[in-house]
Amino acid sequence: RGSCASDSSDSVISTGSEAESQVYKVVLLGEHGVGKSSLARVFGGVEDVGHDYDEAGNTYDRSLVVDEEEASILLYDIWEQVRAMHYLHSDLHIDGCYIYLKCFGPIIHLGFVLKCFPYVLKDNSQWLKDQCMRMGDAYIIVYSVTDKSSFEKASELRIQLRRARQSENIPIILVGNKSDLVRSREVSVDEGSACAVVFDCKFIETSASLHHNVQDLFEGIVRQIRLRKDSKEE
Ligand code: GDP
Ligand code: MG
Repeated sequence: RGSCASDSSDSVISTGSEAESQVYKVVLLGEHGVGKSSLARVFGGVEDVGHDYDEAGNTYDRSLVVDEEEASILLYDIWEQVRAMHYLHSDLHIDGCYIYLKCFGPIIHLGFVLKCFPYVLKDNSQWLKDQCMRMGDAYIIVYSVTDKSSFEKASELRIQLRRARQSENIPIILVGNKSDLVRSREVSVDEGSACAVVFDCKFIETSASLHHNVQDLFEGIVRQIRLRKDSKEE
């Protein structure tokens, strides 16, 4: 009675694997030296946080369980790469030209590139910046509590982000990092949270060095993304 077996297999409902494969792209923004890469390494479970790496950019991939549901995060620490591109076209045109030629040389006439490369590179760095502002499902804007100017820069980034994603309600978390450096603090907790109220985003203080609040930060990001998703679907 083989038909019986096929009958029962017809009624098997496929389990939704699409939900499980959901990956959230999260982008780190912030001034140089505020601790973006350190936070990313703690998140990625990379040891030796104290060591100063000098990488141009990195991506970290991790799954975490938040409110009994698994979520995958792709964390992009590439904002400094954008910054590097700025230096490239302002100080080192030759290097920039070389990289450009390496990528596109075979298809573009050399004379044409040499004539146009300052403009091409300028566009490239703007293009990278725009990419960063466009690619994220959520953003982490980091400043250092020991550096007032990085705090002011955070506001600027928030405005840029709003401009780039006008109609969208993307989740953003404002992060005051280096909370362990009590004696050199320049930005108070109150200033940080007041800023987050103005900018309509979440706020948390962290210490990448002590791993303090880093887990909470990423759980918070997942919750924010889910909240916006749910309210969109309703
Ligand atoms: P990025 O330029 O934003 O990627 O910043 P980095 O992650 O490279 O950090 C810049 C410097 O600040 C490094 O020397 C880090 O060791 C240090 N740093 C990062 N986070 C903390 C922190 O929470 N506390 C302290 N005391 N130092 C930190
Ligand atoms: Mg870095």
